[in-house]
Amino acid sequence: TVQIDQFMCRSDNFGVLVHDAKSGATALIDAPDEKAILDAVKRTGWTPTLILTTHHHVDHVEANLALKQRFGLKIIGPEAEKAKIPGLDETVGDGSVFQFGGEEVKVFSTPGHTLGHVSYYFPASKVAFTADTLFALGCGRVFEGTPAMMYASLQKLAALPADTTIYCGHEYTETNARFALTVDPTNPVLKQRAARIAALRADGKPTLPTTIAEELATNPYLRAHDPAIRRTLGMESASD
Ligand code: ZN
Ligand code: FE
Repeated sequence: TVQIDQFMCRSDNFGVLVHDAKSGATALIDAPDEKAILDAVKRTGWTPTLILTTHHHVDHVEANLALKQRFGLKIIGPEAEKAKIPGLDETVGDGSVFQFGGEEVKVFSTPGHTLGHVSYYFPASKVAFTADTLFALGCGRVFEGTPAMMYASLQKLAALPADTTIYCGHEYTETNARFALTVDPTNPVLKQRAARIAALRADGKPTLPTTIAEELATNPYLRAHDPAIRRTLGMESASD
């Protein structure tokens, strides 16, 4: 299984290094910030060989070309956004599978935030990188797709095994928790989680990663079927 190092980039982006000790292969999940990434490379001693791009937004691809020049690494990203992602070598789409180190990586297309957004799933390591689709207690803003498209993408991720660890693109959890409490105010698990999140943020600590199990229990975007949420919203008979 892979080793993972998560670090802050820009103001609220996460950078993530995924390392296979046996082969030495190291993947960056997106490339938000050259300096923060170089610091993480130095700290871990893991030289990046690959960037796995989730979508074309500048806060996810800005360091692509600089890192490619420095490390000669390969860049993989969504076919549907290939014109907008600098330095792409290989494209993927829904259902694509490739090898990283000794294990398989599966690609899910998760459109909504952007039309080509993809998420990367490492089944053997039980970890998925959902960037700006699924957040802790929230989901990405629907910029290019439709709410129905985003909902279908979230349902795809919700179907992963409950013990899957989830890394996301941004530290948005505290404001997401405030919103979640307005639609699901009687959920005791959510209330406990919100308190834990506030304590972590007060300490300047990240609230990620999360798990599918934790999101199923507390994230309102995965709980549209919940009778208490439906009652609170006065939408008992609406579709999910
Ligand atoms: Zn984005
Ligand atoms: Fe982003």
